[in-house]
Amino acid sequence: MHRSSTSSVARLRRFASLAQLAAAMLIPGGARAQSAMHGDTVSAPIRDVHYDVTFTRANGDVRLVDVAMSFSTTSAAPVLLSLPAWTPGAYEISNFSRWVTGFDAVGAGRKLSWEKLDYDTWRILPAGAKSVRVSFRYVADSLDNAMSWATQDFLFFNGTNVFLYAEGQPLEFPATVAVHTEPEWRVATGMTQTAPRAFSASSYHDLVDMPFFVGRFDVDSARVAGRWVRFASYPAGAVSPSTRSAAWDQLQRVIPPEITVFGETPWQNYTVFEIVDSTFAGASGLEHQSSHVDVLAPSYVGSDFQPSLYAHEIFHSWNVKRLRPAEMWPYQYWHPQPTPWLWVSEGITDYYADLAEVRGGVVDERGFYALTAEKMNEVAAAVPVSLRDASLDTWVHPVDGTEYIYYPKGSLAGLALDILIRDASNNAHSLDEVMRGLYQADYKKGRGFTGADWWGAVSAAAGGRSFADFAARHIDGREPFPWDSILTLAGIRIRQERVPRLGVLTQPGPMGIVVVNVQEGSAAAYAGVRSGDYLESVGDISVDDQQFGAKMRAKYGASAEGAPLPIKVRRGMEELTLTARLQFAPGDVTLEADPAATPKAVRIRTGMLRGTTG
Ligand SMILES: [Zn+2]
Repeated sequence: MHRSSTSSVARLRRFASLAQLAAAMLIPGGARAQSAMHGDTVSAPIRDVHYDVTFTRANGDVRLVDVAMSFSTTSAAPVLLSLPAWTPGAYEISNFSRWVTGFDAVGAGRKLSWEKLDYDTWRILPAGAKSVRVSFRYVADSLDNAMSWATQDFLFFNGTNVFLYAEGQPLEFPATVAVHTEPEWRVATGMTQTAPRAFSASSYHDLVDMPFFVGRFDVDSARVAGRWVRFASYPAGAVSPSTRSAAWDQLQRVIPPEITVFGETPWQNYTVFEIVDSTFAGASGLEHQSSHVDVLAPSYVGSDFQPSLYAHEIFHSWNVKRLRPAEMWPYQYWHPQPTPWLWVSEGITDYYADLAEVRGGVVDERGFYALTAEKMNEVAAAVPVSLRDASLDTWVHPVDGTEYIYYPKGSLAGLALDILIRDASNNAHSLDEVMRGLYQADYKKGRGFTGADWWGAVSAAAGGRSFADFAARHIDGREPFPWDSILTLAGIRIRQERVPRLGVLTQPGPMGIVVVNVQEGSAAAYAGVRSGDYLESVGDISVDDQQFGAKMRAKYGASAEGAPLPIKVRRGMEELTLTARLQFAPGDVTLEADPAATPKAVRIRTGMLRGTTG
């Protein structure tokens, strides 16, 4: 996942009710354990699995997709078919079965008996039928990249929403998909095409990781780093020719540095799916193994956030879709898979999104510092929470503002580790090697990575240096990163803005800005400001000035603590000029290249920004 850079709001995915999640978590194994009440937890084996998805104008008018699944079975035992409870990448329980209506099962020319076994599972009695077809209508009304959404001329759907699997049977089964739609409409998916509008997947994991666009939409493609990349956007015309060409330029720039990190391109072709809709607040992306789906408010199209979104989602095609925490390997679609390592999957991915932007020339060095400082300020403003706890907690959507803090904070952990590795190895090694090494040692060996794998790789890259203390303090613990000492190693200087602070609470009153509270010991208290006073100016800057804050910082930001500060107030009929003594609160941080950096620090900084060592 990825979200707009300005606030976490854009990525909020509040779909799952807490009640559903609690139910799923209280019952170990979720659907499977519930099935035990009925005496069967494993479906009869099925084979020759085929899905038909039908979306025509008539479907678009009612926002319903017709879905059918055909299979053969040789057993007389019940067939248990389930829909996933979640979509990988969107870490929340959704129970897609709730959008199913009109379920039906037919075999040997007659209707088959069926019942729900639990909220995700149907129990069908084949009654001797060798081939069975089940069908239902799916309500496609959720504009969410983990879900399904239809308009009169367009359908976006995820396989997790509509493709049933046989409960308790291996998920490594091949399947085919046929899409039935209007002759002049388009179909786009990352799935292997076998005939016009016919596709195949070699396992259920691949099947549900290849979302579809069906209907009227724009699509074009280009060669990037030797592979075909496709850009599909809805509605037609939503991405103007100039924005489209800017998007292609960004893709051409951010993909090659990401390939360099891992040393190989994991996909034969890649599709960027983009939906632009004014009912959507912010911007959100969801990753897949050879595609990603962005949903954007129109204002985000062509924004500075756009290349960051692309770079983040595409980096996921290595980090999380392939190299993945062991807790999520393999994906289990019927229950949550919390992991303390989501900060590696999401935060480190976001660090590499920034690096891909600067290494590919989408932003310059100063742009990279601005992206990094923004993350520091976001983390500083949040409740202190450890990366491991924030990773685990995302499934329950904490309401204290830390729901997605493992993105910026995990990204900063990546920066810190990269610098510490480069410093310990005299810039001979880097975090890039850690990522490449784990990709080879875990993903290529068909397993997820563990904490021992992660810290072992980090420590090895740093010439054997132990990170136990760092992990205890800053990853598993809540201690802030020691930026002054870390950034110095990379020749980067951190500056903390000082914000003049008056110490009053105000609100708009009938005759201006009225003081409603004066903080004890504050500059305002020292000056004798009282509740009920109308504030007119501070430091001769009118409180009505739209630029009040900026002008205050400009005028007094460099002044000494305790310097005199005139405050004009109206108290009843009187105009009073009071004198406060300046107080400051810590403001945002900014980063810049340190002109006094040592030659080693300059090499580390340059290596990080360019993706080089030595
Ligand atoms: Zn992500």
